[in-house]
This record gives sequence, structure tokens and C-alpha cells, in this order.
Amino acid sequence: MNTLCLPATEENIRLGGRLLSEGQLVGFPTETVYGLGANALDEAAVRSIFAAKGRPQDNPLIVHVAGKEDAFPLCHVTPLAEKLMDAFWPGPLTLVMPKKDVIPHATCAGLDSVGVRCPDHPVALALIRAAKVPVAAPSANTSGKPSPTRAKHVFEDMQGKIPLILDGGDCMVGVESTVLSVTGDIPVILRPGKVTQQDIAAVAGDCKVADSVMRPLQENEAAPSPGMKHRHYAPEGKMTIVQGADEEKVVSLLKAMYDENENACILCRKSLTAHFEGRRVFSIGDTPEDTAKILFAALRDMDEMKVSRILCQGWDTGGVGLAVMNRMARAAAFDIIEA
Ligand code: AMP
Ligand code: MG
Repeated sequence: MNTLCLPATEENIRLGGRLLSEGQLVGFPTETVYGLGANALDEAAVRSIFAAKGRPQDNPLIVHVAGKEDAFPLCHVTPLAEKLMDAFWPGPLTLVMPKKDVIPHATCAGLDSVGVRCPDHPVALALIRAAKVPVAAPSANTSGKPSPTRAKHVFEDMQGKIPLILDGGDCMVGVESTVLSVTGDIPVILRPGKVTQQDIAAVAGDCKVADSVMRPLQENEAAPSPGMKHRHYAPEGKMTIVQGADEEKVVSLLKAMYDENENACILCRKSLTAHFEGRRVFSIGDTPEDTAKILFAALRDMDEMKVSRILCQGWDTGGVGLAVMNRMARAAAFDIIEA
């Protein structure tokens, strides 16, 4: 199959909408990462998402809608869920709610709940409206690889497998949506994202974080969010995270590890890059928000540069730091060192 990668003009968005309504797959930008969309109500189309990504069948998809009213036919919306939609939609918050029968089992991997969100991106919203159906869309990467934040990343992974990628430039947030279960009394974050625990608690009164967010699942432990048990975001090089508030210690540890390894690269805060003169170093910005935006692209760049040892400074887990560390920790297979 020939894969077109076209600018997200009105005409090309209409083409995307038509392809989706015919059961085909379309790569498209959202504010978080690029999605690989299919008609969420078309079981065969949804199955082709799993095939194109090599995605495990037990990993449910998020259904994207153009507004809150489009969520009601798909799932049972409680007053609390509606309050959260009013506060955070359009935006990077996925709500997991009891599903209705119109959602095929393939979409939510046989679960009786479905994750729904309304993306805050003009191209994504226009595409969903053009398709006239809810759009199931996981990240548009090959399963296990870093999520795509640029159209070229989608092309690298999906070339020959899908007919169309809409190029809407770089994603602004850079990490996937916060996934929040609202099926119980207190909302629970299953996957952290830009919408934080504090943001949600301010609207919902309370909010918990699933404790598997910052640690690997134990053997035989049931995953509250199926995606968490799969290998994720992994670059080809071996990655280690160096943590700690004492910057001098972090710098000297990073230097020592760099010098012990062939073909290494340091990823650190912009303010520290000057300490590593003569070594290969890459800035992850000055805030967790900066890092969220460039992390996945940086990991793909490491692969392209054939870096075999990635030494990455971490953030503490407050605010958006939790989302960044959740992704970094998985990319590093939880190899985290305290300086
Ligand atoms: P991705 O589409 O790659 O952003 O991954 C979506 C993730 O959302 C999955 O890996 C799950 O962890 C989570 N998710 C989606 N739907 C549900 C659901 N019904 N229950 C729990 N987690 C869900
Ligand atoms: Mg994904």
C-alpha cells in the first residue's frame, strides 16, 4: 500500500474523513501524540489497527469524539464524569466509563468499560467531524516504540501499512493523555498525563493514582490499565535514569557513566549541558513540560544516531513530572539511579 503523508488542509481532512468512514486507517495529529485512527464502531477496521501496530489484543483503544454530546451514546456518563468533561474537554484527559453495546469488543479489548476523550486539536476535531463516527485511536507507532510526536515518526512506523497520514506539525504536549477511571466512587489515574492529580482533585474533590504508575507490575499482578503491562516507549540503546536534587552529584555521576561507556549520550536539563563539554549531550529543556514535549522525539533521535547507552537526567514526580517519569522509567526498563 502506498502511504500518503499530506499537510492537514481542509481538503485532505475531508479525504481522511472519507477513508475512516470506509473502514480504513488514518494517522492524524492530536495535542498529545499522533493517533492511528479507525471507525470505533467498525470491528474489522479496529482489528486492522492492532495488525498495523503489532499491538497486543488485550490492550484497549481510546475512542475520540468531537464533543461531550458524542460520548453519551457510547458509554454511561455519571454526573462526576460529565463535570470532568466540562472542566477538561477538549483536552488530554481520557475518561474510562462503563461501555454501551454499540462499542465492539475489539475496541476495548473485551473489557466492559471504554476510554473516551475529546482531543484539543483543530485537525483531530475536524477529522472526527468529517468521518461522522467516533474514532478509535491509539498512538500511531509500532507497539513498543516511542510514541510519534511528528508526522515523520508516523511515516517511519506506518509506511506501506496505511493509506494516509495528515501532517499537522509537532504535537504540543508530547506525552499521551491522562487516563482516568471514573467507574468507582473516587477517580483513579491509570496513566498520568498533562492533566494532573491536583487538576482533577480540584474539580472532583479527590483523585487517586494507581500505584503501578511508577513501578513495574509484579508477576501475576492484574494491570488496572492493560497498557501498563506491555513493554513501552523503548529506544534501542540501553537507558538509565539519574535522579537527585544535588546537581553536582548528578553531573559527576553522568560524566563517570558516560566515560565508562562507548557510544553514549547524555540527556539533561538545558542549564546543565555546559558541564559536559566534549561529550555528546542533548537538552531535555528546563521544565517537565519541556521534557514531555521532546522526550519521544529525543528517544527516536537516539535510535537514529545509533546511541547504545542513553544516560538521562530525571525529574521529580510532582505535577507533569509524574507523566514524564512514568514514560522515562518504562523506556529505561526501570533502571533508575539516585545520585
Ligand atoms: P494508547 O492508545 O497507546 O494511548 O493506549 C491507551 C491506553 O489507555 C491503554 O494502553 C490502556 O492502558 C488505557 N485504557 C484504554 N481503555 C481502557 C479501559 N477501558 N480500561 C482501562 N484502561 C484503558
Ligand atoms: Mg501507545
